[in-house]
Amino acid sequence: MLPFARVTIIGLGLIGSSVARAVRTQMPTVRLTGHDGDPEVLATADRLQLCDDIADSAGTAVIDADFVILCVPVGAMAAVAEAIRADLPADAIVSDVGSCKEEVARVLVEELPGAIIVPAHPVAGTERSGPEAGFATLFQGRWCIVTPIAGMPEAATERVCEFWRRLGANIDLMAPDHHDRVLAVTSHLPHLIAYTIVGTASDLEEVTQSEVIKYSAGGFRDFTRIAASDPTMWRDVFLSNREAVLDMLQRFSEDLSQLQRAIRWGKGDELFDLFTRTRAVRRSIIEQGQDDPAPDFGRAHE
Ligand code: NAP
Repeated sequence: MLPFARVTIIGLGLIGSSVARAVRTQMPTVRLTGHDGDPEVLATADRLQLCDDIADSAGTAVIDADFVILCVPVGAMAAVAEAIRADLPADAIVSDVGSCKEEVARVLVEELPGAIIVPAHPVAGTERSGPEAGFATLFQGRWCIVTPIAGMPEAATERVCEFWRRLGANIDLMAPDHHDRVLAVTSHLPHLIAYTIVGTASDLEEVTQSEVIKYSAGGFRDFTRIAASDPTMWRDVFLSNREAVLDMLQRFSEDLSQLQRAIRWGKGDELFDLFTRTRAVRRSIIEQGQDDPAPDFGRAHE
């Protein structure tokens, strides 16, 4: 049996539109309703026929739903929760896809007293945003981390897990604070490093902009993919997961200083040992199906 019959998606950008497309493919009998705060996104969603119904307000969108999934930036969760509060059916389950879980869970519980809430985070995405960037297979073989809130019905958690399984995801259950520490190191810190290095290179005075672009295949261009990610989404992530990110950043700065010393004092063995360990990490990611084994990220070479 399908976990839900009437699904409402609020926020029809990369993730929301991918959920819509995946539901269409994997659970075609589900009645899909969508809403987005941006009229242009609504018009695009309508043109692409992402949902059965497009609602012009968040409240109208949830009136008949048995599952409501919030796919807006983390900083917009409170406003959306407030906007659906009066119209949310008592037995509907509310979830989200936000990249930070502790603050989002707190905000949803505060804004939706008495509602059944099961936060989740599909660890899948690209550097693009908007409804045209989504695709139905985005969650296939990726992990979705579900972070249940104490006191909420277990059956609701199981239905949300089943929803994501149907979209092709593997499920892990985690405490929200643990999720935020894990993602701080696997996602948030890498984004911060990429934003920094791309910013630094574009501010350098002794290397021209055209040289930075021309010689980017030396490694720089791989950072620019991550640094092209949506500014609103990532501003909200760093503000929401502040403590965990600052902790990981402290640890990273210490490790960077150690590398700096190794280079200064010519400690080649230290560098070699680290680079050997990091190469093994890449191998494990490929072995576990979390990236393509093709060299150079599968870029075509003549
Ligand atoms: P996106 O492509 O920018 O889509 C977000 C959509 O939400 C936009 O159309 C935005 O409209 C709309 N929105 C913003 N505030 C709203 C409001 N108050 N009411 C209704 N709609 C509103 O972003 P995304 O990449 O799909 O990210 C959505 C969520 O998924 C975020 O919480 C993010 O942390 C999480 N996530 C992202 C990724 C990723 O790789 N991108 C991966 C996993 C999880 P505007 O045009 O007005 O901004």
